[in-house]
Amino acid sequence: KKSSLQEVKLAVVGAPSVGKSALTVRFLTKRYIGEYDHQQDCKYKHEVLLDGEPILFEILDTCPKSLEELPGSEVAAWADALFLVYSITDRASFTYVRRARQSLQLPPDVPLALVGNKADMVHLRQVSGEEGEILAKDFECTFKEVAAAEQVSQVGEVFLEVSREVLALRRR
Ligand code: GDP
Ligand code: MG
Repeated sequence: KKSSLQEVKLAVVGAPSVGKSALTVRFLTKRYIGEYDHQQDCKYKHEVLLDGEPILFEILDTCPKSLEELPGSEVAAWADALFLVYSITDRASFTYVRRARQSLQLPPDVPLALVGNKADMVHLRQVSGEEGEILAKDFECTFKEVAAAEQVSQVGEVFLEVSREVLALRRR
């Protein structure tokens, strides 16, 4: 019997201007649009094939106004999985991710992906790849440096990878 469409709810969390919207739009449209002038959280629905199976993504692109505004408990309650995004060019966004992870109080099994965006801007790098790896080890999650500005498939793969984890947990 055919199983019903699986839904995966993914929240994109990170400091202002790290490229949360750029990553989301890249995944949704395969395109890069320079500026995303939204002032509030945005929710998108998007159907994709994951390993031949249709998946309905719901993506919450969060929109904190400052480094002091951390994601609330409603984000953790809603999401099946989270992206913790920082910019490799912005040290403060890296520490934001750590604070956000703490404030979220996630249940132990929620799949996370640590994402270091703006990997095209190596000349402005403030956070090394090794630091990202160490933090991911601490979070017990995957880690990837990407560039929403330049990459299509790598960005898509991060979204698909975390959904594989969500589906695997449901099958248990
Ligand atoms: P958000 O506040 O986290 O949603 O960040 P945005 O997606 O609005 O991006 C903030 C700024 O960073 C915009 O000017 C984007 O064009 C730029 N940006 C986003 N991703 C990248 C990237 O991978 N490389 C570079 N060089 N710039 C990026
Ligand atoms: Mg945004």
